[in-house]
Amino acid sequence: MPSKAASKRKTELDGDAGHTHDTKKPKLQNATSDHLREPHNFSAEAEENGIVLREYYPHEMSNARARAYNDGEIPRPIEQLAAALEETSAVRNKVKAKDAVVFWYKMDLRTTDNRGLWEASEKARETGVPLICLYIVSPQDFEAHLTASVRVDFMMRTLRILKQDLAALDIPLYVETVEKRKEIPSRIIDLMEEWGASHLFANMEYEVDELRREAKMVKMCADRGLAMEVFHDTCVVSPGALTTGSGKQYAVYTPWYRSWVAHVHANPELLATFDPPSKNSPDARDKLASLFDCDIPDVPENKRLSEEDAKRFRALWPAGEHEAVDRLEKFCKEKVGQYAQRRNFPAQAATSSISVHLAAGTLSARTAIRTARDRNKMKKLDAGDEGIKTWISEVAWRDFYKHVLVNWPYICMNKPFKPEYSNIEWSYNSSHFKAWCEGRTGFPIVDAAMRQITNMAYMHNRCRMIVASFLAKDLLIDWRMGERFFMEHLIDGDFASNNGGWGFSASVGVDPQPYFRIFNPLLQSEKFDPEGDYIRKWVPELKDIKGKAIHDPYGRGAAAQAKKAGYPEPIVDHKDSRNRALTVLPYQVPPGQRLGNVDVAAEAASKQDKLPRISNETPIKVIHPISHEILGLLDPGLPSDSPIALSDHLPQVVVEALNNLIQEGQILHQLHGTYVISVGLHYAVKTETSGDLDQITNLQYIHDKFPDIPAPRCLGTIADGQRIYFFMSRSPGSTLESVWPDLSVSTKVSLRNQLNSLFHHIRSLCFESQTERALIGGFVSGVSKDIRKTERIASNPVRSEKEFNEFLCSKPGRTTTMLIKTVCSSMSHNHRIVSTHGDLHPRNIMVDWEKDENGRMLEDTVRVSSILDWEAAGWYPEHWEFVKAMHAIDSRGPLRDWIDYLPTEAIGNYMIEYSVDCLIDRWHG
Ligand SMILES: Cc1cc2nc3c(=O)[nH]c(=O)nc-3n(C[C@H](O)[C@H](O)[C@H](O)COP(=O)(O)OP(=O)(O)OC[C@H]3O[C@@H](n4cnc5c(N)ncnc54)[C@H](O)[C@@H]3O)c2cc1C
Repeated sequence: MPSKAASKRKTELDGDAGHTHDTKKPKLQNATSDHLREPHNFSAEAEENGIVLREYYPHEMSNARARAYNDGEIPRPIEQLAAALEETSAVRNKVKAKDAVVFWYKMDLRTTDNRGLWEASEKARETGVPLICLYIVSPQDFEAHLTASVRVDFMMRTLRILKQDLAALDIPLYVETVEKRKEIPSRIIDLMEEWGASHLFANMEYEVDELRREAKMVKMCADRGLAMEVFHDTCVVSPGALTTGSGKQYAVYTPWYRSWVAHVHANPELLATFDPPSKNSPDARDKLASLFDCDIPDVPENKRLSEEDAKRFRALWPAGEHEAVDRLEKFCKEKVGQYAQRRNFPAQAATSSISVHLAAGTLSARTAIRTARDRNKMKKLDAGDEGIKTWISEVAWRDFYKHVLVNWPYICMNKPFKPEYSNIEWSYNSSHFKAWCEGRTGFPIVDAAMRQITNMAYMHNRCRMIVASFLAKDLLIDWRMGERFFMEHLIDGDFASNNGGWGFSASVGVDPQPYFRIFNPLLQSEKFDPEGDYIRKWVPELKDIKGKAIHDPYGRGAAAQAKKAGYPEPIVDHKDSRNRALTVLPYQVPPGQRLGNVDVAAEAASKQDKLPRISNETPIKVIHPISHEILGLLDPGLPSDSPIALSDHLPQVVVEALNNLIQEGQILHQLHGTYVISVGLHYAVKTETSGDLDQITNLQYIHDKFPDIPAPRCLGTIADGQRIYFFMSRSPGSTLESVWPDLSVSTKVSLRNQLNSLFHHIRSLCFESQTERALIGGFVSGVSKDIRKTERIASNPVRSEKEFNEFLCSKPGRTTTMLIKTVCSSMSHNHRIVSTHGDLHPRNIMVDWEKDENGRMLEDTVRVSSILDWEAAGWYPEHWEFVKAMHAIDSRGPLRDWIDYLPTEAIGNYMIEYSVDCLIDRWHG
């Protein structure tokens, strides 16, 4: 009998059984437009390197096609399935039960807490017919989905156990191999007709092939007078059920998790489990005798293990749902309490090892979470016992990545979450890839992990992150090759979690590790395998190496011993690789420049080749003393204790050392002739040809007047006759522009509040209180500026708003028209004059956040860490901040909702002045 809670939930869940999923019509039902069918520029390379299996799939799609999914121009597969269910709903409801109900098993190989199975059993019970269970072995699906042989073996072993469990309930499990995957739908329908079955039940799988197949089957069944019902089961909360304030799928885990917890707390029946199916009537044994007699086929040839491997894996990974439940219970009894402290240490078997069961469906996520929660005194998911809380939040990642897959289905088609990341020019160095696969990179922690996966078909989560980061960032090898290798070797291979883990580690997925966070394998090794036990277990050549040398034998005095034992030297230098990755990974290129099919990597590299150099042909002028922070970065032997004072003759040796420093840096921003280049870890140099010193003097003024406003510190300025080099502190975090699309509404609101308070403070200084001077313009220079398409600088001092208006409405060499005269005379000139930044745009706002131990953003900690670019700052009329901020609004791009978060409480709302300014703007052309 179904449990009471489960019955209650049936009504609750009917809405997310796919029947009522949002079916809003996409703009283009069948995308036949040619340009959307064009392959991605690098598609040939992806095929050559085994990333796209052309036998089963089209070439790698263009970025435009991926974006068409996001824009609703191409229907998502889940929408196709929902539409098929809706279209056939009347027909399906009328289907009368005949001789049997069929449940089609897929990745849900259990009898308990299986929603689709329970629903099928209920139908059979209500209509008084027997339930038949079915499993189709599809060698082509195994190949197309890169299913590891070890996983196939695990499933076939599980089927044997399942068959016995079902037989105890007088339910047959019929298993058949269908060689051609395309024939599966028609074969199932034929079988149903053969058995006189009227209803087919199944749980939903969220990968694209499966959703599309089910959409097609629902219609095929309806055409033949059969009813197919598909249910959400694999996640605790169904995909699509959680959305951000603006109704979108979350791309960041922390706010998604908060929403997930709140949703489960509000709907506790989501954790109620489904009973096993009811027993068939005993005469089913006779009626369906041939089905009871059917054998479980052998593992298909393309996925057969060697006998030795089969034996080892069978001992390591006992199959079936009873084993799953035992493992879960044991973990909850013995280990969950210590999980939070110990889970990151691969040498301690401190995690649950239930991923294999969640992947094969021998355990449901509901049961896993419910079992852990029930041990918690609080009965809450996010409170009480630290270990339980942490473990539940890890299991939730699995739900998160499945939600992501459903919303961005092209991640299942070899595209990264942000399509433009396909433009990274990855390496396909086969000897590096081979060394990585074989665990012979010369980085002991990487090699240990890679040997663990080939030996156990499993790898510890911390090590998955380390080896993935190493492949993508140290070797710069296409992360999709690593993703494929994992799928082909893991017993717990799960598309969504695997893709999510690789996207995180290569910084191309949802909620990714920031691109500049590149795991240092040595530090990871020392931190998470401090005694080297994990390394010694998996890399036996190194077992006799003592102490810390185990982490880096060639760098720590154990080279001869390692060499003798046949352990390879490191195949790359981590420091060089890191620098290379920072150049190639495009995330530092402003989003505006990386959208579209630009060859970002080549562009970045060519820019890097041409970093500006301080000229040594003309005497160098020191405009502001170079601080000891910058001097401390120069080669040893150079002055570093006291700032280099104002002088017309910077010593040649210092110029050279500064040039070396700049050449080692990375371009953080570049526009026309202006570069911002990193200098060491904490500083940057901005260099440009304009000769405008306002940005420096303005910054110094701001520091004097408002030491608490976060802004870069000036650390020295020099000029070489062509360029100015302005050294400054580097603000932590990222530009608000680069993270904006991923932030939740609540974080955006919090940032607006922070900006309101900063700008209230900045504007607290106003002209009336400044008796010493009275010019509209830069704080120190007093020069008025108006930056539009080009920068305009007033040639005369501007002493009043009236004069400022006249400056705005003038253009050298152009006669002032009647229209512009009228505009000018109608402009108000009694605004307060206040201190103003003058270029309030998300690219000039740095934000920083706290991270969890995996480097992931904790969204509610996002803080404004700095306001950059004070070039246009100074004393200006009170509407100027708003007017200039409005000119930076882009109504279409990823920042289109920035307008809703302008800090207008502080800077005011001056729409009339802005409209007038638009007229002036048009006149300037
Ligand atoms: C590059 C990379 C690839 C990965 N590939 C897979 C994969 O193919 N299949 C897979 O199940 N997990 C994958 N993971 C996630 C994670 O490594 C494994 O789920 C975990 O190591 C399994 O061990 P466990 O059952 O002892 O985990 P526990 O620590 O006991 O966690 C319990 C369960 O929570 C879920 N879980 C934990 N962490 C994650 C996570 N980061 N993402 C998604 N689910 C998580 C798993 O279902 C896991 O079984 C990958 C992670 C990375 C970084």
